[in-house]
Amino acid sequence: MNYEIKKQILDKIKEYDKIIISRHIRPDGDCTGSTKGLQAIIKATYPHKQVYLVNSDYSDYMAFLGGEDEQFDDDFYSDALVIVLDTASTDRISNKKFHLGKEIIKIDHHINIAPYGDISWVENLRSSCCEMIVDFYNTFKDELVITKEGATCLYTGMVTDTGRFRFRSVDGETMRLAGLLLDQGIDTDTLYAHLNLEDYNYIVYKAYALKQIKRTENGVAYIHVDKEMQEKFGLSKEDASATVSFLENIRGSLIWVVFIDNPDGSIRVRLRSRFVYCHDIGENWRGGGHECACGATLYSTDEINMLLNEADTKLKNYKETHEGWL
Ligand code: AMP
Repeated sequence: MNYEIKKQILDKIKEYDKIIISRHIRPDGDCTGSTKGLQAIIKATYPHKQVYLVNSDYSDYMAFLGGEDEQFDDDFYSDALVIVLDTASTDRISNKKFHLGKEIIKIDHHINIAPYGDISWVENLRSSCCEMIVDFYNTFKDELVITKEGATCLYTGMVTDTGRFRFRSVDGETMRLAGLLLDQGIDTDTLYAHLNLEDYNYIVYKAYALKQIKRTENGVAYIHVDKEMQEKFGLSKEDASATVSFLENIRGSLIWVVFIDNPDGSIRVRLRSRFVYCHDIGENWRGGGHECACGATLYSTDEINMLLNEADTKLKNYKETHEGWL
């Protein structure tokens, strides 16, 4: 699929000696894994090329995959190809100098509501951006080289963005491409230890947070991880973000939301659902994302209540029009 665009991207990679790869802010497994995986493929195939990962924020959770490069002066970008991965819109690109690149390529699997780039390869039905990079490698495998380290990065993103290969977006092609990575000899025991282990103090927080879960009339489950809660348990941004996973298996709560107080007074929303499509709620509140996983930004308790009302109405309608919901 999309052979022509992929060929154009390969030709651009061949053309440029300097390539700067970037991703979205608040890095997760997919954007970290895809940028590092693509970098590894380009470096292994074309050892003479300069390939950098440049961003402005960092993730402790993904630190086990290794670091990134320091930011460069503006001039450095004038002869560089910039490739941005896993980022739907320019405001979410972590490298604020991305636009200085001579040419820009977007590769992404989010709904394409804000196109950018000289070349854009977007497949919103793909389970992860890492899957797209593996597909890219697979399409040109006669001339591209993959390493075990690169495969580990790409596999990490596939595993995390699919909820361990559970989400609906996973299809046969996802598994075939994942299999291609496993064939490189990935140490999955160590990988899953990095992804799954939790500190004891975090388990204590989890026990507390589970008691704070509230539900709207029709079953939307939510928690507000406010400043006090963050201070009480010394939560990092990532700790607070992970709270959304505590809500995912409540029967009848097909929509669930976590509200996280940001230091600047705004409130980060992480909204998830099963069976019910909710990305329009994210879009209504300065955000967006996927059909069943989106984000938004709010500025007051009133806005929290309004968003919850919207979600509650959506869930009510869904339950009234569908039988056998879980
Ligand atoms: P998160 O809850 O941050 O993991 O976001 C879930 C999905 O929605 C991810 O694919 C994000 O890239 C996307 N997303 C989150 N926040 C926003 C936002 N403010 N605008 C657009 N997309 C977002």
